Amino acid sequence: MTIKTFTRPFTQQEPINQEAIEAAIEVLKSGRLHRYNTIENELSEVSLLEEEYAAYQGSKYCLACASGGYAMSIALKAAGLKPGEGVLTNTFTLAPVPGSISNAGGVPIFVEITKDLVLDLDDLSKKASASDARFLLISHMRGHLVNMDKLMQIVNEFNLILIEDCAHTMGAQWKKQKSGNFGLAGCFSTQTYKHLNSGEGGLLTSNDEEFMARAIIYSGSYMLYERHSAAPSSEVFSDIRLQTPNYSGRMDNLRASILRPQLKNLENSINRWNERYQTVESMLIKIRGIEVPQRLSEERYVGSSIQFRIPGITKSEADLFINKNKKLGVELKWFGNDDPNGFTSNHKSWKYVSQQQLNKSDDILSSLFDLRLPLTFSIDDCIHLSKIIIECSNDFIKK
Ligand SMILES: *Cc1c(COP(=O)(O)O)cnc(C)c1O
Repeated sequence: MTIKTFTRPFTQQEPINQEAIEAAIEVLKSGRLHRYNTIENELSEVSLLEEEYAAYQGSKYCLACASGGYAMSIALKAAGLKPGEGVLTNTFTLAPVPGSISNAGGVPIFVEITKDLVLDLDDLSKKASASDARFLLISHMRGHLVNMDKLMQIVNEFNLILIEDCAHTMGAQWKKQKSGNFGLAGCFSTQTYKHLNSGEGGLLTSNDEEFMARAIIYSGSYMLYERHSAAPSSEVFSDIRLQTPNYSGRMDNLRASILRPQLKNLENSINRWNERYQTVESMLIKIRGIEVPQRLSEERYVGSSIQFRIPGITKSEADLFINKNKKLGVELKWFGNDDPNGFTSNHKSWKYVSQQQLNKSDDILSSLFDLRLPLTFSIDDCIHLSKIIIECSNDFIKK
């Protein structure tokens, strides 16, 4: 085999842009890092970010907070989740999703996925009807949007309170409607590996004033909610401010200052991600025995990672396949492992949740491989890594 080893790191993000660096230096010079540490007539960087993100998202309100996981747990609390209540969610997701349900006092009820890596809507109907669950925390995992029209029919039929985990769909749309705007709330992450990078951080959006007032008080606003500009008017807080505990999880001005210039660039980043995604997709899709999840034409996705399946591959073959790729510098993640590995885990390792039978998803996940496509990869890099994957898959494809 003569293929050259791939030498680029899969976890290397682009540098923070110059405008963001300069904005961060200004915050540092001011010494006013706390979001409520403002001088007269000043709107903090965090408030400005909330305004700008609400405008980008097309939502009335936005709250910036400590992480995406935090945004999801206070969203569930602010939506009225009671201790011990069930929350429907995807089987295929990452640890912060069941973690946020547990943190909010709820119990995850896992819904099967399809081979296109979206929620299985038949299983959703079945479990919504069997469980009496009031909440659906849908995780648009790896940026795959389910048919949102059909989803909303089920949400309406069962009167579910919908919260969207948009950690991988910031900027994505279904028929021109932004992901995150379909239900009560959208939850976003600005952790390093997502679409905006502040190291850690989260954004929560909604059009519901009482929900947002509760979320703001939960986030640790003391009685300073009037300094939020993408927030409901102060009358909405009159009872809520006394009835809602403070679960401190604010964002600070330093992070907000580096996010604001990145937000201006988000559309451009999305186009660059999609060029990379489509490069890899177009090469893998040609190989018989490799399946790439199908995207619906109503979907505008953000291809910051790509997934593919080799149907029929066994667990030991999957190991060999991953090692072969690794030797050539291509880092694949595999969701079929019962033991968690770094960021990758599956429902069998979330042992604080009672085990649930999810045979369909288990079967799909055992043949599923996943890789990041950071913007530090060039198009040539994407061609190179696709060639390696194709070469390595030869021995494992079921002819
Ligand atoms: C990253 C991520 C989140 C949020 O993560 P934080 O690290 O808490 O910001 C939520 N859901 C999914 C699917 C994620 O990958």
